[in-house]
Amino acid sequence: MNGPLTNQLTQCESCPRKCGVNRLEGQTGFCGIDARIRISHAGLHLGEEPPISGTRGSGTIFFAGCNLRCVFCQNYQISQEFQQGRTRTLTSAELASDMLRLQDQGAHNINFVSSSHMIFQMADAIQAAKAKGLVVPVVYNSNGYDSVDALRQIRGLVDVYLPDIKYMENEVGERFSAANDYADIIPGVLKEMLNQVGHLETDDEGIAVRGVLVRHLVLPGHLSNSRKCLHFLAGLSPDTAISIMSQYSPRYKACDYPGINRTLTKDEYDEITDYALDLGLENVFIQELDSQNHYLPDFSQDRPFNSSSPISGSSASDLSGND
Ligand code: SF4
Repeated sequence: MNGPLTNQLTQCESCPRKCGVNRLEGQTGFCGIDARIRISHAGLHLGEEPPISGTRGSGTIFFAGCNLRCVFCQNYQISQEFQQGRTRTLTSAELASDMLRLQDQGAHNINFVSSSHMIFQMADAIQAAKAKGLVVPVVYNSNGYDSVDALRQIRGLVDVYLPDIKYMENEVGERFSAANDYADIIPGVLKEMLNQVGHLETDDEGIAVRGVLVRHLVLPGHLSNSRKCLHFLAGLSPDTAISIMSQYSPRYKACDYPGINRTLTKDEYDEITDYALDLGLENVFIQELDSQNHYLPDFSQDRPFNSSSPISGSSASDLSGND
């Protein structure tokens, strides 16, 4: 039996695509997923930012499918080629059980990855898990291409929002992710998330308990887009927590796209992190530039993330402490 939010999927407007398909009857829209819950992986993950992974790991649950088509997607095996890979179809109660299992295993939080197209199914399952004892924070880890209306409907169920800001140039969003309005959508999404949970708050051990942490992946050769993203975030508030990611690697179809068919240079990354400081952003996480290969998962394996990718490999740190 579906939960009340999932029952809205008769004319899907879960995300900005507004496909209007009846996912409850098995129809699929742009994301390729009907109303059933399909996940590709659930397990403890140490590769997120320190406030998310902590010391025991983040309880990550990866949904199959996606409402973007990023040509460089590092998770393409489960986001765009999920029909060929391993997925599990779960009931809402089974997803709730997975959350509780991860909590029992010591997860600092439950971290829903690629959640935009599954927002209502996720929300119903969270409610079921909370009724059975889920107490760790819930993290909504999305590409930022979210529906503000949908976010408003799940208010109170998410503790930590972990959205991307990918583009502030629509033509770049169209070229690389098939989203020609990403830059129009993301400002409202981030404002709604901040309105719900505020700026990032951590406990005594530095683990996130509430708030927004925005991620930005710097694309090689597209520093103008990155500067616009950071400028927008600084305009929201200099207290906005942001993770500036250097891990870009030309995976999936990226080698077919001149300009992004290479990794990022140190000069490019330094220029963007320096720009963040110049803007007055005070809560910035950075990565080591050699992180490109540490983060590349292989979802054809039982353990998609290289267990040798230690948390020190992410080496995110607060720029304000690196003066
Ligand atoms: S969630 Fe999927 S079906 Fe619904 S509007 Fe978005 S892309 Fe379309």
